[in-house]
Amino acid sequence: MSGPVNRAVIPSSAHATATMKANRRRDTKPEVAIRSLLHRRGLRFRIDKPIRTDTGIVRPDVVFTTQRIAVFVDGCYWHACPEHGELPRANRDFWREKFRRNRARDKEQTAALEKAGWSVLRIWEHEEPQRAAERVRNLLATTQMGRE
Ligand SMILES: [Zn+2]
Repeated sequence: MSGPVNRAVIPSSAHATATMKANRRRDTKPEVAIRSLLHRRGLRFRIDKPIRTDTGIVRPDVVFTTQRIAVFVDGCYWHACPEHGELPRANRDFWREKFRRNRARDKEQTAALEKAGWSVLRIWEHEEPQRAAERVRNLLATTQMGRE
């Protein structure tokens, strides 16, 4: 009688595994799109630059060192986006807890960076890259005005 049970479990785990692999990749498509838009605007930045904070090293996706601006492009799956975050069918409690921890870590990292004097911008992977790049540029403009 284990056959039907296995058939029910395997597809959703396989789906979860595939989704995990797709989401773990660095240089996700939206991230690359946003970076190239910024680059085309003549903006220069560092990628995955480690920043030391009170609570440890944080590696934002895009870093403007001089302006102290840290940008994260958060994947909808891992960061449990309210619009697209979905719980895998198998082991729901495990995943619910995992995503809760991921969100908590995002908040901690944002807080740690802000405490260290950084401005933090979090972009959802589902945001339109053009608009996301515009948000980065606006923040840069505001920060530069404040310093002049
Ligand atoms: Zn989303």
